[in-house]
Amino acid sequence: MSEKKGTNLTWHAGSVTREERQQLLNQKGVTVWMTGLSASGKSTIAVILEQMLLHQKKHAYRLDGDNIRMGLNKNLGFTAEDRAENIRRIGEVARLFTDAGVIAITSFISPYKKDRDLVRASSKPGEFIEVYINVSLEAAEKRDPKGLYKKARAAVASGKGMGFTGIDDPYEAPEKPEIVIDTENSTPESAAEQIFAHLDKGGYLTA
Ligand code: ADP
Repeated sequence: MSEKKGTNLTWHAGSVTREERQQLLNQKGVTVWMTGLSASGKSTIAVILEQMLLHQKKHAYRLDGDNIRMGLNKNLGFTAEDRAENIRRIGEVARLFTDAGVIAITSFISPYKKDRDLVRASSKPGEFIEVYINVSLEAAEKRDPKGLYKKARAAVASGKGMGFTGIDDPYEAPEKPEIVIDTENSTPESAAEQIFAHLDKGGYLTA
């Protein structure tokens, strides 16, 4: 996967400037990268945030775990190598959306710090906002909207294992996220408002 295939490639710069694009859209492109355990609330919050932004006439678009895994990344599984490639591709797509001036909202567990940091490192300064959707494993397991924790516990009990984040695969919490959402003491709506306020204050919602 990491093997370099393309040679003799030259980046073809366009003639539309970043500023022109911002003026046209009256906003700044940015990647809002949500990370957290399964059932922490990433998708729920992303849906609300996207709607809040669109209602303010801000162009936002969600890149969501299962949707991407059904399409762009359908050839990838859950080994550490595939998880890394999954995040790398999502990072590339998010960067393209960001470059196009869109507020790209990603909601993937993205459990490994190294993979998230690579996306951050390849983003322009200020164009990567890491949002830690924080929940205890106990609370996530109680929510379990898709029954995945139950499945993972059964897989571990049977001796097979499943490589499920939080159960038999690690989750590495961000050390310096731009935003931390405590989902055990707030509603999904207030979480989305907290992120919206950050974008507003940071000047992303104007040219
Ligand atoms: P993820 O995308 O992180 O796997 P989901 O959004 O699919 O998580 O599921 C989270 C579940 O937790 C939903 O059923 C949601 O209604 C519930 N929930 C309870 N409190 C919150 C909260 N404060 N923020 C987000 N989700 C919450």
